[in-house]
This record gives sequence, structure tokens and C-alpha cells, in this order.
Amino acid sequence: MLSVRHLLGIESLPPDDILAILDLAERHVELGRRGAPAPGGLEGRSLVTMFFEPSTRTRASFELAGQRLGAHVLNMSMTSSSLKKGESLIDTALTLNAMRPDLLVVRHPASGAVNLLAQKVDCAVINAGDGRHEHPTQALLDALTIRRRKGRLQRLTVAICGDIAHSRVARSNILLLGKLDNRIRLVGPRTLIPAGIETLGVEVTDDMARGLEDADVVMMLRLQRERMDGGFIPSEREYYHRFGLDAAKLARARPDAIVMHPGPMNRGVEIDGTLADDINRSVIQEQVEMGVAVRMAVLELLARGRSRGAGGGDD
Ligand code: ASP
Repeated sequence: MLSVRHLLGIESLPPDDILAILDLAERHVELGRRGAPAPGGLEGRSLVTMFFEPSTRTRASFELAGQRLGAHVLNMSMTSSSLKKGESLIDTALTLNAMRPDLLVVRHPASGAVNLLAQKVDCAVINAGDGRHEHPTQALLDALTIRRRKGRLQRLTVAICGDIAHSRVARSNILLLGKLDNRIRLVGPRTLIPAGIETLGVEVTDDMARGLEDADVVMMLRLQRERMDGGFIPSEREYYHRFGLDAAKLARARPDAIVMHPGPMNRGVEIDGTLADDINRSVIQEQVEMGVAVRMAVLELLARGRSRGAGGGDD
């Protein structure tokens, strides 16, 4: 059981809830790897996904997670729905709410849109990414990957590199890793690092060699061109030269450092393709596997809170 009723962000999620999700997810990983039958847990429940932005892995991952738990899953195609006809986000939500789903997974291009929606509906709402704000299940799956590879989730040096300014993944990871007492370094061009971010307790540098020094974890981010409205970088070639991760830059990190990327990847822009595929360093495929397990745990724990009838916290 979680102390919150919705999963809107890591900011409002206490460390005990984070650990409860990771522990249950761990059990799902083991069952999945053994090829054990689907564990059930959400039979008779319904899960609706609403993606107002494109998604490949997150959407598929939530859908698979719901199905493995025995839920009825409905994917609303928001491009072909009445949104095109001008219906507002809230009207769409209220219409869906009248169908009484148990769980609603939402991705939206506007920061805060998912929080707003959660105030209007009765079901448990899960934020699958809202603008530049948060992407909580991504940070949770990253945390599970790190904990399994490093054996702990404290006192690690984590370098988060690239387009921090436009990244909800970076924000959720900074919040989660910060709550669990890790050292976080943000590395990227000054134009892609939000002013004042140091107040979140992170170190900032535009020098990859310094940023990666003795790092346990190197997390690369995609250059989010679709969110850029000006010239944030001189050219992709120049960007790769200074900030793209290759074997030479990675040599500054600890010899057992792992390489992560939330996907989708721009090979040859933020990361060298060969390094991304190097199973001795890159855990990118494992992140995808952990995504299903973490989403199963989130769905199950939020649904359990609902059956209790009390509703838990109020975020
Ligand atoms: N898939 C992640 C997100 O939805 C990262 C990215 O798009 O670069 O934020």
C-alpha cells in the first residue's frame, strides 16, 4: 500500500513508498525471468491509457504491465479522439471518469496537466510524463536498474548528462536520487541547464571530464529538439564532440560505471552507438525490462489503496 492516492511525481512520493514500489517490482522481475505465469492482482479492474504525446516504450510497458496483472486495458488514441474536435482535457477526463475506470495513465505535453486532471476524476491517476515536469515511473525504473547493478541506492555518484533543461526524466531522477542521499552531477552546455537548479542539491558543470570523474552511474539524455524553440546548441556534430558519450569520455568514470539512457536514443548525437550496445557497460535494455516490472508494482499498489476505500494521501 502506498501513502499517496495518485502517482503524480517523485516530489510528493515519500522514500518509504519508493522502496515499497522497488521491492514489489523486484519480485515481478524474478517471476518474469523464471517465465512464471502472470501473477494476476488486477482481475476485474480496468486501466485506461491516454497519451497526448507520442510514446513507444512507456505506453507499451504500461499496457503489458496491466495485462500481466489481469486488468482490462483500454488505450485511448488521443490523436483520433474528440480532442481533435476541440474537446478540452477536462471534458475528456470527465467523460472517461463516468466509465468508472480504476486506473488512468496519462501523458501530456503541458507541465501540471496530469495534476489538474487528477483533481477531477475518481480513479487513481499515474503521470506517464507531463511536459518538462516529471516522469515518475522512468525515475523508478532507473532506480531499480541502479539498485540491482550497484547493490545499493545510496552514496552513489550519478552523472546526468545532456539536455537537462527540457527533461522530465532528469527532474524526476534528481528528486528520487536526492531523497536517497546520492551525489548528483549535472553535465551539459550552460544553455541546456536551467538557472538555479543547484538549489535541488546538485553540482553543475559543462565539462564532461570533470562531471564523469569517478561516477558510478552515467545517465545520458536525449536532445529534445521538439521542446527547443531556439539555437540551444551550435550543431549536433559539435555537441557530440563535447558532450556525446564515447569510450574515451567514459574512461573518466569508475571502471564499473554503468551507462543508462531513457530512450529514444539519438545515436551519434548524445551517445556512441557501439557503446550503447556494449552489454558490459550499457544497461539500456535492462531499463526497458525494469520498466514493465516497476509499472506492474505501481498499478498494483495504487489499486490496493483503492480497494481499501480510504484513498490514502491527497496529492
Ligand atoms: N522517453 C522519455 C520521456 O518521455 C525521454 C525522452 O523522450 O527523451 O520523457
